Amino acid sequence: MTTNVKTDLFGLFAPEIAELIKPLGLQSYRGKQIAEWLYKHNIRQFASMTNIAKDQRASLDNSFTITQVSLKAEQHSVDGKTSKFLLSFSDDMAVETVLMRHTYGNSVCVSTQVGCAMGCTFCASTLNGLVRNLTGGEILAQILYITEVLQQQEQKVDSIVLMGSGEPLANFDNVLRFIRLIHEDYCLNLSYRNITLSTCGLVSEIDKLTGEKLPITLSISLHAPNNSLRSSLMPVNKRYPLEQVLAASDRYAAATGRRVTYEYTLIAGINDQPSHAKELITLLRGRLANINLIPINPVPERGLLRPSVNDIIQFEQLLQRGRLNVTVRREMGTDISAACGQLRHKVCRNDG
Ligand code: SF4
Repeated sequence: MTTNVKTDLFGLFAPEIAELIKPLGLQSYRGKQIAEWLYKHNIRQFASMTNIAKDQRASLDNSFTITQVSLKAEQHSVDGKTSKFLLSFSDDMAVETVLMRHTYGNSVCVSTQVGCAMGCTFCASTLNGLVRNLTGGEILAQILYITEVLQQQEQKVDSIVLMGSGEPLANFDNVLRFIRLIHEDYCLNLSYRNITLSTCGLVSEIDKLTGEKLPITLSISLHAPNNSLRSSLMPVNKRYPLEQVLAASDRYAAATGRRVTYEYTLIAGINDQPSHAKELITLLRGRLANINLIPINPVPERGLLRPSVNDIIQFEQLLQRGRLNVTVRREMGTDISAACGQLRHKVCRNDG
């Protein structure tokens, strides 16, 4: 007996959908109509696609499926500015998606993998290693879930950061599909400039991204100003040392004209000393760069602590005096374990 595995249309571009539905006798313009139902109107069953004939909807349903997403847990910060959602897919794998309500708009942080293989010592996402890549559709489904939440308050998603669980560039094709898809007019029509991709520094994939010539913001997880400290915090640094990461970032900035952001998680007693600030100034001075300091959300499993407020301010001021462009990520959502992987780790102790 053969089992009929249905193709998932969610996450496909309109022309791809048009091609797949051809054998059912649907004209090619139906591809865009279906894409609009899926992405613009967030409709997840063919039966509700009312501008398509009833018998055609039935044959679509017989041949294809649509990614479904369900809410497993949610947390909201006391100040109401940050909400975290644990969303699961058809295989019950769950990822975290975070909504941050800034004064300048709503930003959503999406996950790109279930778990992560990169092994950064300060990160809860990697505690059980990589479980699997997310498809482009599954990354998009996170945004559309939040879009629906915001629509109830007559708001929308204004910007996206690929900074949740997973290393986006280790899931290159799916991530790129997501970025291109969300930019389409039949999807959210989101400007590339409102998308930030954060990587731990996979040099060959950064170059690949540079070749795509998309004006998205590249964000490098730096976290240390020298190779020995960075290698101890981020194993990827042994493969791609700092000099190579910075050179690839410079190539990205030169090709796109976009300022690169360097993320620096401040960890008490590890990388938050004045000597580290001085090294950082030497490393980044003269580069088209922004530095984003992120006081760590403590990871109890790793015994890592947040620096004191005084140490954070001192570090920031030293960088400013060194004429670096620096911002401190203010305390968003610390009461709801907003660091990537923490909610999933709490709820899904046994998966992955
Ligand atoms: S910080 Fe990012 S790259 Fe590093 S382990 Fe966590 S999710 Fe992976």
